[in-house]
Amino acid sequence: MTQLNLISGDWLAGESEIENRNPSDLSDLIGHFAQASSEQLEATLVQARVAQAEWATYGLERKQAVLNAIGNELMARSEELGTLLAREEGKPLAEGKGEVFRAGQFFTYYAAECLRQIGENSDSVRAGIEVDVRREPIGTVAIISPWNFPTATASWKIAPALCYGNAVVWKPANITPASAVALTEIIAKQDIPKGLFSLVMGSGRAIGQQLVESPMIDAISFTGSVPVGKGIATAAIQNLTKVQMEMGSKNALAVMDDADLDLAVSLALGGAFGSTGQKCTASSRLVVHAGIHDAFVDKLVAGAQAMKVGHALEDGTQMGPVVSQQQLTENLAYVDLGKSEGAELACGGARLDMPHDGFYMSPGVFLNTRNDMRINREEMFAPLTSVIKVGSYDEALSVVNDTNFGLTSGIVTQSLARATHFRRNARTGVVTVNLPTAGTDYHVPFGGRGDSSYGPREQGKAAAEFYTTVKTAYISAGDPV
Ligand code: NDP
Repeated sequence: MTQLNLISGDWLAGESEIENRNPSDLSDLIGHFAQASSEQLEATLVQARVAQAEWATYGLERKQAVLNAIGNELMARSEELGTLLAREEGKPLAEGKGEVFRAGQFFTYYAAECLRQIGENSDSVRAGIEVDVRREPIGTVAIISPWNFPTATASWKIAPALCYGNAVVWKPANITPASAVALTEIIAKQDIPKGLFSLVMGSGRAIGQQLVESPMIDAISFTGSVPVGKGIATAAIQNLTKVQMEMGSKNALAVMDDADLDLAVSLALGGAFGSTGQKCTASSRLVVHAGIHDAFVDKLVAGAQAMKVGHALEDGTQMGPVVSQQQLTENLAYVDLGKSEGAELACGGARLDMPHDGFYMSPGVFLNTRNDMRINREEMFAPLTSVIKVGSYDEALSVVNDTNFGLTSGIVTQSLARATHFRRNARTGVVTVNLPTAGTDYHVPFGGRGDSSYGPREQGKAAAEFYTTVKTAYISAGDPV
């Protein structure tokens, strides 16, 4: 049976459909998914305007109840929905369950934020006049989300969009449609106006492009690659549509000579190979002080070789397959590129034959790399990491900052002075000390610098900046008698 789109509040078949298979086992068919037509997108955008006006009249507690219900259901069903996510995306089951639970927490956090929308009030510079400053919904928000965190990324956009009073038209990644349908089913059954929330599955180049070019949207929140992000920004400027974009990165973990060796190795392994390296916060550059380099590398390579690669749903799997044949082909091309640039492949980076036919490869570690190599400049989104040897803390910081990106960076050190200096001087939106470069909280801002981000920050209270527009009212009370 074909899974449908949610158009103007109704579940509808599309103009075509796609098949979705499990990257851990290609014989496992997850389902068929409708591809929205151009006319359906137009219709749902019209209905979204009507629904948003009605949603704006809901009381705060009524909106809060909707968000709480979505969040609570996601958390209660994290086992079931996490299994579906792991099955279609390929991340190990524990990561899938954790992602769905975290998605639920975004909704319950923003449920509470519904009641915390408090403006500012002041006297005018003109006598007898008051000024009231408040945030209002921006209108209809287009949300374009990626496949690597299909439920969490969508949720950290959808929850604040609804909290602050907007309608949502969601174009999820076409490679993870089952997770999108599951989340939409939960949202659609709530007490919301018909058409407030739309699901338009389809290809990015077709329906995605039409969505971002539409004058019927007021804002676009996008997570994905830099080239697509730049294209979306170009389309958005034609209609002066507000944009927020989170894109790639080339995050560095600096390992100092005073680091706790076992901690450093475990942070590097988790940061580089968690989610099969397919995350924008992955530790893809390991900038290692010469004083600890050899000992660190020995343990790192041994750890990578010991990792259990396998079916995402099997017990003991530490790293699942990559998401698609295209991604696998690109990853293996980066392995060849690294070798041709002069890097030494110490382990992994090879296609694996497994009992199930899937997109498996072994976690790879490059040694003796330079920061100017393409493998250290371009986001690979692969289970590959590079060691860059440095002679001092100052050199480490300079290498960490020598990138076009700037999402996260981390330092492993026992020196308070180095940790403090790094925290203040690393040019990234997120900095970690003795923690992985990946793994962030929902109640504080998330975003980067350089090519990693564009527009206001996501998550926490910072999200209000993007999902609202500010109105300043001047009130002259007049004479009371
Ligand atoms: P894309 O940037 O192509 O896709 C992200 C989202 O944008 C998807 O929903 C996609 O739809 C949609 N999209 C694609 N083209 C358009 C368009 N012209 N207009 C509107 N929407 C569009 O990323 P990929 O999934 O192709 O991954 C490629 C690379 O991008 C990865 O290898 C990685 O380097 C990077 N990436 C980074 C992410 C991050 O979190 N920073 C997340 C995902 C990818 P559809 O799925 O139908 O193509």
